[in-house]
Amino acid sequence: MGTAVDTGIDHPFRCPDCGHRLYWDDLDYGSLLVCGNPQCPNVAMPIPVWRAQEHRVGRGEDTPPPGAGLPRPVMRGLPVPYVTPVSDGRPWWRLTHGPRILECQNSWCCQVCGLPLPERAWVVLSGHGIVSDSALHQECLVIALAHCPHLTANAQDLRYAAISRTDLLVGHNQPPTTQALWREPWSVLPNTPTYDRPPAGEPDQDGSGAEPTPGS
Ligand SMILES: [Zn+2]
Ligand SMILES: [Zn+2]
Repeated sequence: MGTAVDTGIDHPFRCPDCGHRLYWDDLDYGSLLVCGNPQCPNVAMPIPVWRAQEHRVGRGEDTPPPGAGLPRPVMRGLPVPYVTPVSDGRPWWRLTHGPRILECQNSWCCQVCGLPLPERAWVVLSGHGIVSDSALHQECLVIALAHCPHLTANAQDLRYAAISRTDLLVGHNQPPTTQALWREPWSVLPNTPTYDRPPAGEPDQDGSGAEPTPGS
């Protein structure tokens, strides 16, 4: 459990139980929120931004984040991925929407557009770990590489792989499930071919051709 940090109002979130304004958790500033009311039964329970926003939507104070599909809506000059929480038209770029990332994992959907992926799809790798723990369409990878500050800032450390769901390792080296209850870290099998530059086209669904030559 963290301690509430009062840094002034930089978000619209209020406690779903007592209505007191929420504060950033000092252990996870900018991500988790805690109730500032010491009398509240919820005081020791940090909640993520997406959850606090769901309460606002439930109270009719805002609308849900943009749904699945392309083109992505543009907010503050950038396309907003399906898994990004949004409040009052503000995308929370560094954060992810819990149920949506879980949906992408369980249903093999794209983190950028939210639509179903083909048999084989692209993942961005940092080491063996999959960035954002979810996969993308080729078109959506191009969008992400053009606009996502995290990807452009770390481009020299990233690699790319075209994988099927069966090529995944989930959590502590488990095969993937379609019924996970929370987001699991995704990685790829150690012998998965990877590429040192972004792909030029969709991976062939039979696993051959139409991909960049594997890098060293
Ligand atoms: Zn409260
Ligand atoms: Zn997509």
